[in-house]
Amino acid sequence: MSDLDRSLRAAVAAVRAASRVCRDVQAHLVTAQTIEKKDKSPVTVADFASQAITCALLAEALPGERIVGEEDSQELREDEQAQVRVSVVEHVRGVLGAEAGEEQVLDWIDAGGADASGARYWTLDPIDGTKGFLRGEQYAVALGLLEEGEVVAGVLGCPNLALGDGTGALFAAARGQGARVHALWDESDEKGKAIQVAPVSRSSEARFCESVESGHSNQDESARIAERLGITAEPFRIDSQCKYAAVARNDASIYLRMPTRADYREKIWDHAAGKLVVERAGGRVSDIRGRDLDFTRGSARGCGPA
Ligand code: AMP
Ligand code: MG
Repeated sequence: MSDLDRSLRAAVAAVRAASRVCRDVQAHLVTAQTIEKKDKSPVTVADFASQAITCALLAEALPGERIVGEEDSQELREDEQAQVRVSVVEHVRGVLGAEAGEEQVLDWIDAGGADASGARYWTLDPIDGTKGFLRGEQYAVALGLLEEGEVVAGVLGCPNLALGDGTGALFAAARGQGARVHALWDESDEKGKAIQVAPVSRSSEARFCESVESGHSNQDESARIAERLGITAEPFRIDSQCKYAAVARNDASIYLRMPTRADYREKIWDHAAGKLVVERAGGRVSDIRGRDLDFTRGSARGCGPA
């Protein structure tokens, strides 16, 4: 097995486990377990548990890897977060089946504290689309592997995305291979199914997807672009990198993410995995000026419109 195959396999296993914890927490979500982070985005027990599990499993399968994750344990270590902390530890133990102590779990979260530099590192959004998660809707666990600034593997766990008769889809892609969708909850589904973007011969037949949150993507501008293209289909609004998955498997043909603020910088973990899934499904991903996304400028400057 090649290094890349081994990496992809480890990423798939980690994302499956992290997705399980997210599903469990979402099923029993109580608002008391939501902390207001300093930047005001909601973060839940599941964000922390998902990051801890992903980092623990990646470290076990591929020792010594650098991981650039969205979360860190700083606020979780504060006295007033004791209850949330206990819940995070319980959930992590539940999924890993391990007798992990509190300090161990906090350390796993912080194992995702590498900075986005160096020849090879992973980037993780333990719950992309936290707002969708809190609404009981779509979200994704997103894990990408970068080598020399290029995304070479990407995995998206999408617990609420429909697949066949059920829900739970996992999208995986690696350099030199086609993108595939797997049953998220069925670990025996190693092979999955190839997915392909669909050709659009007339722009008016395209359907575009965008954020549910108007604060994350300028929906008025998307509507103007759609009008110019003669698109009549309603926008498909869906949270998280499920949008990339939607394009890759042809639920939509375009993903528009128009800036709402000139100073916002997109994060590498919000795009790395999804971008590769779309590209390996035959699609093209660029910034609003048509340039390739740039993953070489640190975690928060990866793919901004500026
Ligand atoms: P979505 O699910 O498409 O709404 O995107 C969720 C992601 O939007 C989160 O992971 C945030 O990192 C990101 N985000 C937060 N604020 C903004 C913003 N002002 N513009 C674009 N993306 C944002
Ligand atoms: Mg995100």
